[in-house]
Amino acid sequence: MSMNPKDEKEKNIKFSRDGAKYVCKKCKAKYFTKEEVEKCFDLHIDDGTKKK
Ligand SMILES: [Zn+2]
Repeated sequence: MSMNPKDEKEKNIKFSRDGAKYVCKKCKAKYFTKEEVEKCFDLHIDDGTKKK
């Protein structure tokens, strides 16, 4: 029952960092800007990531 701000941040994250680059968590594509990587991630959601 803890509202850990750190946890919440992790949940919102759509990418991980690889040095100076942003790596899409879905497809592991690397981008140079946060905007691009977020766009990439959002595309996956639109594309039906729920199939599993
Ligand atoms: Zn992606």
